[in-house]
Amino acid sequence: MALRVTFHGGAGAVTGSNFLVEGPKGRIVVDVGLEQGRDFSVASMYSPFPFDVPAVDAVVITHAHLDHIGRAPKLMREGFKGKVYMTPPTKDLMELMLRDSVGLLTQEAKRRGLDPLYDENDVNKLMQHVETLDYHVEKEIAPGLSVYLRDTGHILGAASVRIVNLDDKTSLAITGDIGNSPNPYLNDWEAVPDADAVIMEAVYGDRAHDHLDTRIPTLRDTMKRAIERGGTILMPAFSMERTQLMLYELSNLMEAGELPKIQVFLDSPLAISVTEIYEKWAGTYFNPSAKEETKREKSIFRFPFLTMTPSREDSETIGREPEPKLIIAGAGMSHGGRIGRWEAKYLPDPRTTLLIVGYQAPGSPGRMLKDGSPKVKLDGREVKVAAKVESLTSWSAHADRDGLLKFAEATLPRAKAIFVSIGEPSAQRFLAQRIHDFLGGKAIVPSQGEVWEITKAGAKKI
Ligand SMILES: [Zn+2]
Repeated sequence: MALRVTFHGGAGAVTGSNFLVEGPKGRIVVDVGLEQGRDFSVASMYSPFPFDVPAVDAVVITHAHLDHIGRAPKLMREGFKGKVYMTPPTKDLMELMLRDSVGLLTQEAKRRGLDPLYDENDVNKLMQHVETLDYHVEKEIAPGLSVYLRDTGHILGAASVRIVNLDDKTSLAITGDIGNSPNPYLNDWEAVPDADAVIMEAVYGDRAHDHLDTRIPTLRDTMKRAIERGGTILMPAFSMERTQLMLYELSNLMEAGELPKIQVFLDSPLAISVTEIYEKWAGTYFNPSAKEETKREKSIFRFPFLTMTPSREDSETIGREPEPKLIIAGAGMSHGGRIGRWEAKYLPDPRTTLLIVGYQAPGSPGRMLKDGSPKVKLDGREVKVAAKVESLTSWSAHADRDGLLKFAEATLPRAKAIFVSIGEPSAQRFLAQRIHDFLGGKAIVPSQGEVWEITKAGAKKI
């Protein structure tokens, strides 16, 4: 039997990234994601995996975002016995993210009168099955199937995985998410020139980000205006990567004298823990210049006017601090976490600036604020919005349409089929069209549940 892949998730973005790869003797699952960012259907989370879980030999996790790991503990409930492979930083980040999500899932399940999707116990069991695998180490992890991880520059530890059928040497690579390189401290994404077929993401397949040269001045100018307004600046931020990137850029701007040095509060226990994990691996997984910087400064994310407030008591003191001040807190779409409390307090004040730096899903409080709603419901309370709302785009951790096209180009001429998966259908189709038109590559937009056979000549639907 030739190498085969089944698109159980990621295609059409229904259930989060989830692929089953089968060789003549072994079976590997890549990513076990939960759908994020929209009103996901409970059925898709709770329904059993559409493959025989105990028959899977090994799982590979590309990176620690919930749309790639969110259902991993559920594998344990369905009798998974094998090992779960990922890079060492991904192991740390995944454990943190899963433990953090247990509370939210339990609340959500209670609200709907259901059992939680998984609990602390399932996370403990999962962690016992984790084995770390570094970038650039070829390893046979299932009978007749070896894997090889490469950096994708998306978040710390993120990897693409190439799977080789050791029988006939055909190979398939799955990219996970591809970074918006260059990033000031992560490595650039690595090309995958040695796979017969590639499954790549397309989240920003049809959109372009601003260039780095305009992105930082825009951040500076927006912050300047906000500081001049004299009030509190609120920045709802995703705990992983966006927060660290903002800390890094803001500290550089303040230390270079391009922004007044105002007090910055990182008021998110989760973001503080993620930052500590980034710091733990900075010496080994950051790019060469950030490694050097780390040697000199110990941490590239900390600066003298930054205060981290992990505890509730520390957090409460922020309200008494003089303005102007900046509060960075989760959740990234203002849909929970500590940011809600600060929004309730400060949004009615016209001197306040709400600085939106991340994606806001339709229906989320963050999206309503971004769209200029004069009031917003936070924790069941209606809050009047007199604050100035400013929105910065282009700080995404995903490659844009040109970055993705460059990635696709680097898979050629070896890749005889490029599957465009993960992302909205329109973004997938747009990228597939460009791969076809500009690169002459064979691009395929797969549907949920499709099975494809990979050979040296290309891919065939079966
Ligand atoms: Zn991701």
